[in-house]
Amino acid sequence: MAKIVAFSNQKGGVGKTTACVNLAAYLAEKGKRVLIVDLDSQANATSSLGYFDKKLQNSIFSMLFEGAPLKSCIRNTDIKGLSLLPSSSDLAGAEIELGRIERNREYVLKARLDAGRDDYDYIFIDCAPSLGLLAVNALTAANGIVIPLVCEYFALEGLAQMLNTVRLAKKHLNPSLEIYGVVLTAYDGRNRLAREVKAEIDKLFGDKVFKTAIPKNVRLAEAPSYGKPIVLYDKKCAGAVAYDALAEEFIQKI
Ligand code: ATP
Ligand code: MG
Repeated sequence: MAKIVAFSNQKGGVGKTTACVNLAAYLAEKGKRVLIVDLDSQANATSSLGYFDKKLQNSIFSMLFEGAPLKSCIRNTDIKGLSLLPSSSDLAGAEIELGRIERNREYVLKARLDAGRDDYDYIFIDCAPSLGLLAVNALTAANGIVIPLVCEYFALEGLAQMLNTVRLAKKHLNPSLEIYGVVLTAYDGRNRLAREVKAEIDKLFGDKVFKTAIPKNVRLAEAPSYGKPIVLYDKKCAGAVAYDALAEEFIQKI
């Protein structure tokens, strides 16, 4: 049965999508069956995998709110074993749609994903930078979360709020929710502030911090514009080598 992993951090631009897509791609390369669920109306994970149409039919919105079956919404990608449940711009209306639901509005995503759990080893949810009802749905559906972080001062401030939300989700909605790990997504060890922030994060999370830190690497930022994960765009670059190593570590831990 698939482990469901939410890539979650309400702070924007910390590498959630990049980590979700590239880690998933390497896991699939290593023989795992992985489904990426794009839970962000920006649809960045969707376009990172080659689907550039922001008004895509049979997207996650149709699955959540229009009764489309999970399987009818899933797409293949250029990587064998890697599937995508795409997002589209209409997901921007999801908070309102969820707000209208009277009962169990926190469990809508979980109920829908359960139908696909036997078909995958991992289901990765790429969350939007918010702590709204959609994000709560991700925390309810997930077995665990991965928190992508950039080592800057504000990273620490946002983290307290993030951890509080996780605590509340655990208490009220999903008691077995785990923190699988923290991944440093654009780490520059030559930068003193980055080293200091990393030391704080190590203190807070101990061995939950993945040993593989992803370096800043422009190739990682270029790949999505070609609709490709880094393994298909430039598998020799430093970012690719790091995500490959992170996938090995991930398989050992989770
Ligand atoms: P949002 O909160 O908007 O969903 P996000 O947390 O998903 O953002 P990304 O979109 O993955 O963050 O990354 C933000 C930007 O940083 C993107 O342009 C991405 O290509 C770039 N980026 C991510 N990781 C790296 C890296 N290691 N080196 C260089 N650029 C990176
Ligand atoms: Mg994103």
